Amino acid sequence: MENSETDSVTVYIGLGSNLANPADQVRSARTAIMQTPGIKETAFSSLYHSPPMGPQDQPDYVNAVMCVATKLPPIDLLHCLQRIENNHGRVRKAERWGARTLDLDMLIYDDQLINIPELIVPHPGLAERAFVLYPLFEIAPQLMIPGKGNIADLLAQCPMNELRRLD
Ligand code: ATP
Ligand code: CA
Ligand code: CA
Ligand code: CA
Repeated sequence: MENSETDSVTVYIGLGSNLANPADQVRSARTAIMQTPGIKETAFSSLYHSPPMGPQDQPDYVNAVMCVATKLPPIDLLHCLQRIENNHGRVRKAERWGARTLDLDMLIYDDQLINIPELIVPHPGLAERAFVLYPLFEIAPQLMIPGKGNIADLLAQCPMNELRRLD
């Protein structure tokens, strides 16, 4: 039976930017995701300010987490996110974790464990990253993360350090 409600799954997406007015990049990416056919926003966290991970010779980041309902299969959704990154001037460089106008990571896709070269879900960095866990907790305080446990327990192991919430 066709049912538009039950066919959707819940997906969490991490947004980050540290170039070309990061807060605007994140807000504009949110709009682009919402406007993608087959994706509906259900929650959006505050924006957070965080020091860079990896190379320190780059600006601080603005991060947020978004919850969506979608019927798109995981790879199709990944390709949508990559297209939005490209549309926001994302340039892929050799340096790992270098500066970027927009980074969209698929953090969680329903209850699925995916492990193919192109897509690992839940996102492998999720459990250790304050700039993911704090905004995620803000919009989903009861969340169970497949294979990793509940969000409150992960958060308790992850100091906020220099992460701060923007108004
Ligand atoms: P990290 O993944 O540690 O946050 P990054 O975001 O800087 O690092 P990218 O350069 O944006 O990494 O992505 C590298 C590759 O990661 C992409 O080409 C994509 O295929 C792959 N990838 C694997 N799992 C995911 C995921 N859950 N979300 C987004 N991309 C993923
Ligand atoms: Ca560098
Ligand atoms: Ca990332
Ligand atoms: Ca990424």
